[in-house]
Amino acid sequence: MAETKKGLIIAIDGPAGAGKSTVSRLLAERLGYRYIDTGALYRTIGLLAWEQGVNPDDGERLAALCDAADITLSDTRVLLGARDISKDIRRPEMGQMASEISAQPQVRRALLGLQRRLGGTGAAILEGRDIGTVVFPDADIKIFLDASIEERGRRRYAELQQRGEAEVSLAQTLQDMAERDRRDSQRAHAPLRPAADAVRIDTTTLTQADVVDSMAELVHAHASIESKKEKPGS
Ligand code: C5P
Repeated sequence: MAETKKGLIIAIDGPAGAGKSTVSRLLAERLGYRYIDTGALYRTIGLLAWEQGVNPDDGERLAALCDAADITLSDTRVLLGARDISKDIRRPEMGQMASEISAQPQVRRALLGLQRRLGGTGAAILEGRDIGTVVFPDADIKIFLDASIEERGRRRYAELQQRGEAEVSLAQTLQDMAERDRRDSQRAHAPLRPAADAVRIDTTTLTQADVVDSMAELVHAHASIESKKEKPGS
């Protein structure tokens, strides 16, 4: 029997570098919710395909990789079996691999059930590209985070430098990001786009604290609407 849902399902979508991971993590901490980074699932399959020489267009073999992969997501780590791949999947080429393999419908189908199982019990913030449109179209709160391409490139570059990936230039980072956005937005299956009922936040000029505060306000507004529904007339 399905477990009952306790707490909200919050969907956070948007392009690369919009700041989704950091603010989702902070909001999850503030609410005592789980943070589920769905991009890490696609990156894991990208890493496996890379290591095993599987062509990123080969949907059938990629689906077999998904079915066989024993992935554990915690708030801070990603495990493949007993192997900690948290760092490996963050390499820039894994972002590109993830974007390529995630265009295959077999891969999306294979990872859909896992994402629904991970988030379906509620009290969860799921971050990705199609959470509000495909994975949880009935999510309680949907947020679409965006920022200018220049700002997103600058943030991603700073992140790579901090991690010691100094061989990548800012120009290359921007180019990779634009390429990834184009592929993610134009793919036929579950393209990156805001759900019709998503609240859009442009983070270009906002601090992380501002964004988290705005998202927390949406959660409180939702809670107050729900409590009025439960106590009509109050
Ligand atoms: O979020 P992150 O940059 O780690 O995601 C890596 C890639 O995985 C994205 O560029 C996108 O192609 C894919 N992805 C997806 N659907 C999701 C999450 C990530 O297609 N829900």
